[in-house]
Amino acid sequence: MLKLITSCFLLICLNACAQKSTKPEVNSSPKTSDAVINLDTNWTEKIVKTNDEWKKELSSSQYYILREHGTERPNSSPLNTVKEKGTFVCAGCKNPLFASETKFDSGTGWPSFFQYLSSKSVSVSVDNSLGMSRDEVTCKRCGGHLGHVFNDGPNPTGLRYCMNGEAMQFVAAQTPLSDLSVATFAGGCFWCTETIFESIKGVSEVISGYSGGEEPNPTYENVGAGRTGHAEAFEVYYDPKVISYKDLVRVFFASIDPTIVNGQGPDRGKQYRTIAFYRNEEEKTIIDQKIKDIALEYNKPIATQVVPFSKFWEAEAYHQDFVKLNPNQGYVRAESIPRRERTLAKVKDLVK
Ligand SMILES: [Zn+2]
Repeated sequence: MLKLITSCFLLICLNACAQKSTKPEVNSSPKTSDAVINLDTNWTEKIVKTNDEWKKELSSSQYYILREHGTERPNSSPLNTVKEKGTFVCAGCKNPLFASETKFDSGTGWPSFFQYLSSKSVSVSVDNSLGMSRDEVTCKRCGGHLGHVFNDGPNPTGLRYCMNGEAMQFVAAQTPLSDLSVATFAGGCFWCTETIFESIKGVSEVISGYSGGEEPNPTYENVGAGRTGHAEAFEVYYDPKVISYKDLVRVFFASIDPTIVNGQGPDRGKQYRTIAFYRNEEEKTIIDQKIKDIALEYNKPIATQVVPFSKFWEAEAYHQDFVKLNPNQGYVRAESIPRRERTLAKVKDLVK
């Protein structure tokens, strides 16, 4: 029986690894709300779609406002109270419409702005519906109805663009990576570790790549075949005002079994070994202390290496954001997502 279980386990491992090394189909149209939105103000073609096509893409309330000139109830949109830095884009075509700096509290219950973002953002035309003469504001790119503009706004324009929040999406401003701190770890399969750390507060970006070896320009193929000294690794760009290095180390050790030599989950080989890289003595002290603390929890020695950081090589583009873009891939469903959920349950206080 034990033998049968062992061979099943091996079979599952082989399947997982085989699936993992196959170059995946990349889903080019993620529909999740956290999909990356490209702030493109240089577009040259308008977006034209049939009503049926819009119906498929938009929620019923978005369709009602954008395509049927509807109006949402005041104070009903969460965008009304957004005060963060960022850009409001058209919910229909992602055309950048307004910058957060031009938003003001008009007291009307609708998101209000005194200036549009670019000359390609909006069109204004006369709207004589409902027995009033108003200036209607539409998206210049897809023609979607956004709201109206009135002459009772604040300086410097004196205008009040009174928008339907449901017709827009908010894209929070990203801090440039150069302004953030960076930490590097290797925790087995980088698809898994990337999605874990991207769920953590204060983390802006996680890059999958290779580190820990000497060879320049490693590739997935070389590393996967064990022909280099590199391990699958990842770099975490984080805001130290929001999350400390110590907490990142806590997430790292929650995400791995640190007693496994050269492996994690179903993956085996030195490219899947776990490493905590440090950039200074302070980071090394934090890692050493954490290992000391957790050593008591395990009845086997800790195999995680503690290594000074030297160089990180970014992995091929199709490995970046892999789990987000391929949620139905076999290995992702069987390993990455359950591993992420198991880890996040251990560090609930640090989850976005
Ligand atoms: Zn639009």
